[in-house]
Amino acid sequence: LNAAGFTDYYDIDGLLTEEHKLIRQSIRDFVKKEISPNVEQWAQQAHFPSEIVRKFGEVGAFGPTIPTEYGGGGLDYISYGLIMQEIERGDSGMRSTASVQGSLVMFPIYQYGSEEQRRKFLPKLASGEWLGCFGLTEPDHGSNPGGMTTTIKDMGDYYLLNGAKLWISNSPESQVAVVWAKDDNGRIRGVIVERGMEGFSTPEIHNKWSLRASITGELVFEDVKIPKENILPNIDGLKGPLSCLDSARYGIAWGALGAAIDCYESALKYSLQREQFGKPIASFQLQQRKLAEMITEITKAQLMVWRLGMLKNEGKATSAQISMAKRNSVEIALEIAREARQIHGGMGITGEYPIMRHMMNLESVVTYEGTHDIHLLITGADITGIQAFK
Ligand code: FAD
Repeated sequence: LNAAGFTDYYDIDGLLTEEHKLIRQSIRDFVKKEISPNVEQWAQQAHFPSEIVRKFGEVGAFGPTIPTEYGGGGLDYISYGLIMQEIERGDSGMRSTASVQGSLVMFPIYQYGSEEQRRKFLPKLASGEWLGCFGLTEPDHGSNPGGMTTTIKDMGDYYLLNGAKLWISNSPESQVAVVWAKDDNGRIRGVIVERGMEGFSTPEIHNKWSLRASITGELVFEDVKIPKENILPNIDGLKGPLSCLDSARYGIAWGALGAAIDCYESALKYSLQREQFGKPIASFQLQQRKLAEMITEITKAQLMVWRLGMLKNEGKATSAQISMAKRNSVEIALEIAREARQIHGGMGITGEYPIMRHMMNLESVVTYEGTHDIHLLITGADITGIQAFK
């Protein structure tokens, strides 16, 4: 731990501004007060704490990079990353709620919406008065979203939306859904669907073993009349949803490190306290190896996401660079969670420690926002020029 109490083996704090550190500290304090003491119980009971949405709004967790005139934080991408890291140190499900709201709902409305749409939706989403969700994945189209079959048909005065989306974070509690559907020409368009529109329902998905404190559902559209002013006017094609995913994946690259750091810190502490054969288990070489590998991987990944953040600030980060960081951070976080689980012995499977919850959460994080395999193939395509996944 550095002087400020953060795991920081390479003085990466030396690369942060005072503002970055203040933001990180304020989110850390928030997580310690509002999330960490309760999240184990929420997860055990598969309870989504709806009141957290307003609280996230108050602390500035929604849309940190959106300009302040629309209620956002007007911050840079390093700040955004640090916010995601500190929330996910608490829980990946909580971070998912914030990622979806900021990167997948507010970002497309800000980036591709009309001025009226920005003014109508962004301040309420930023404050947490409204919760939003992002509908891209369908029952038959996950890794291949371009194959989607949800459609919007131009009826003259309005559009008619038909189809279904699956695995949608926040959906059962959301007032607003940014949904991607094919128009009459087969072009992918974004539409803003609002709670209460006739024919629109959001059934909840139960029995998850992962992200249990986050709520997940479907989006079902049966002849939903969408007013023309609810289409995102400034985007068409798959690059619309993919650019949103770039923003969310960037946040996950930082966020997963929060879960990794939490597991590492818990394992280090436990290994120094727990004695077997008359000594702390931290004195055994095999346990030291696990801990040393953990801090090495965390440090490498911290440098990677910091550099990626600087590139994002300059508008230079590529999608492939973001894929690499998302994949790496989640992979090392999962590995660290598994090793930390072993260091905690039998205690590691209980809710006394955050380890097993992080591990189970990360099994979703490694799959959503592009699977582990697909991100590897994106790197493969980038370096060879040959796409192996189509
Ligand atoms: P598939 O695409 O069926 O993949 C199954 C396996 O096949 C994977 O291992 C994959 O890597 C592999 N595979 C597929 N194609 C290839 C290929 N060409 N080459 C090699 N391997 C391949 N979606 C949203 O739109 N909004 C959300 O808010 C959202 N939240 C989610 C929350 C949770 C908890 C979960 C679990 C998912 C969420 N998703 C969301 C959906 C998520 O993005 C998809 O699950 C993901 O894209 C994978 O799709 P799939 O589950 O259909 O798996």
